Order: sequence, then C-alpha cells, then structure tokens
Amino acid sequence: MKAARLHGVKDIRVEAVPDPIPEADQILLATRAVTICGSDLHYYLEGAIGSDRPSQPHILGHEFAAEVIENGPLPKGTLVAVDPNRACGTCEWCAEGHPNLCPNVKFSGVPPYHGALAEYVVARPEELVVVPASFTPSDAAMLEPLGVAVHALDLAHLRPLDSVGVVGCGPIGLLILQVAAASGAGLRVVVDPIAERRELALHLGAEHAFATVDEANDVLGPRGVDVVLEATDAQHGPEDAVKLTRIGGRLVLVGIPNGNRFSMDAGLVRRKGLTIKMARRMGHVYPRSIELVKRAQVTFAPLVTHRFSLGETPQAFALQASRANGVIKSCIEP
Ligand SMILES: [Zn+2]
Ligand SMILES: [Zn+2]
Repeated sequence: MKAARLHGVKDIRVEAVPDPIPEADQILLATRAVTICGSDLHYYLEGAIGSDRPSQPHILGHEFAAEVIENGPLPKGTLVAVDPNRACGTCEWCAEGHPNLCPNVKFSGVPPYHGALAEYVVARPEELVVVPASFTPSDAAMLEPLGVAVHALDLAHLRPLDSVGVVGCGPIGLLILQVAAASGAGLRVVVDPIAERRELALHLGAEHAFATVDEANDVLGPRGVDVVLEATDAQHGPEDAVKLTRIGGRLVLVGIPNGNRFSMDAGLVRRKGLTIKMARRMGHVYPRSIELVKRAQVTFAPLVTHRFSLGETPQAFALQASRANGVIKSCIEP
C-alpha cells in the first residue's frame, strides 16, 4: 500500500510499504480521512515530542476515519471513527477509568506505533466508533480533536455563565470555544495573534477577540476571566493564560509547547491562587462529541479548510506548519 512516512525533520515521503496484517482480534480498514494535529507538527518540525522520537521512518496520523472493507463485526461499507488510544485496560489508571493516562498505551501515530496516513489501517472492533449516516469522513476524523476539547471542558468544571478565555485559536482552541458555549459559558474571550483566526472565532461564538492577552486585559479590565483554556504551541502560552485568569480562577493547559518547555510567572500564579490542570488527550468522550455535532452545537465546516490526497501529504504538512492561506485544519483523504 501507499503510506506517508516521516523520515526526519520536514521530510515526509509517500512510498510503498507492506500492507498491515491484522492480528487475530483486529480487522483491516480502508483509511478515508486523516486530519493533521498540532502534535503531528511537532514531529514534523522538531522530529520529536519530548522523548517520543521515531527511530524508523514513521507513519503519523491519529485523527482519522476509516471504512470497513469486509463483513465482520460491522457490515462492509460502515464509516467509523477510530479511537487512537489503545490503553492496556489492566493498569492502575485504566482501572480507575483514566485510559488517557495509561502508561502502557499504544497510541496510533506515536512511535513506535504507526498512524493512519496510509491506505489501510488495522484496529480492534472495540476501538471503532460508528458515526451517524450524515457524517462525512472528515467529520468522523474531527471527532478526535473534538474529544480533546470536550475533555478539556470536563477538566475546567465550568459553572453556568462563567466567563471563559481561550488562548490560541487553532483547531483545538476553536473547538474548545464551541464546546464552552454549549456548556453554558458566559462571556467568551479569545486571544490569537493571527487575524483570520480571530475573525473565525468571532464567527464561532466569541464575543471578544484580541491579538494579545495584554490587549484583552486593557479592554476588559484587570479582573480577568473565570476559566481559561490554553491551546497554543508557544512556550509563553501558559504565562499568557495565567495573566488572563482571574484571582482564584481555573486554568486548563491543553497545548504542547515548542521545545517541550513552557514558562509561567511563579509569583503571579501563586498570588492568584490558580487551580491549574493539565489535559492529557481525552477520556470517554465520543458519544458526547457525536451529540454536539448532531445538535449543531459544534461545526467542523469552517475548520477543515484544506483537503489533500495521500500523495499530497508533504504539501499538506508544509501548509499546516506555515499557518498561511487561512489554514486551520488540513485533511488528507486517501
Ligand atoms: Zn491530536
Ligand atoms: Zn492501562
């Protein structure tokens, strides 16, 4: 089959590789859509995320939809989203109901486990999420990042009409914004340096959009907002988010910083007495994610801005990394 493999920094090659062979409990699926995640960009631009560095040519892609190609547990032709988080199911954290924290997890696309940027993938039936008939393949793929947004809001413990700040209006930030609105948020404020992304955020329910947190605090006043969700890749993103959060407020860090480091003003975060949570992937969120889309409380249409064939994967990554041409999310459709 054809697959897009990462050979090194900014080096993705589309080449022939052996078809994956399903294990006894797995089935073979045809990949229909893969959306590029900010985490994929870290592998592309830095070659690694923290200690996760591929030692072999590596197939990225964990936000994906696939089609059942042989009758089995599901009929041939069924469109499914695939949960990339294959937790062990037996460790202390799995037993506590936190498969996203499983240290033995086999996560699609995280080395050494290959992802979905290929014509075929294998998965166990319990990893498959059947989507409503109205869903397109890219809708199904987008359920994974939407799940990350839902999980972030779960961690935020939003109260009705809490004011919410979203720092970073990439795909995750724009999904968080929509889920926050659906969760009863009051005032919604976003911060992003890219003008097109601020405009899109206003279209998707933000009341205020600012290029910087300082500008937000100048206009809105020094109190800050009740709950802030940070979804940038910047080392200063968490520091900005602290400045936007009110005294005694809550902050959820979702972004993965460039260079695996972030900064915060220790004095400020201490004096404000903030509650800070780190979001790690997601929990049991697919049913609610599907419901949010069915109820039109979340829309993917303005977020999936560019579509590519599998052969065009290198161009898709180059565009996504450049943040040019109004790109929010690139989708590869093998
Ligand atoms: Zn992702
Ligand atoms: Zn486990």
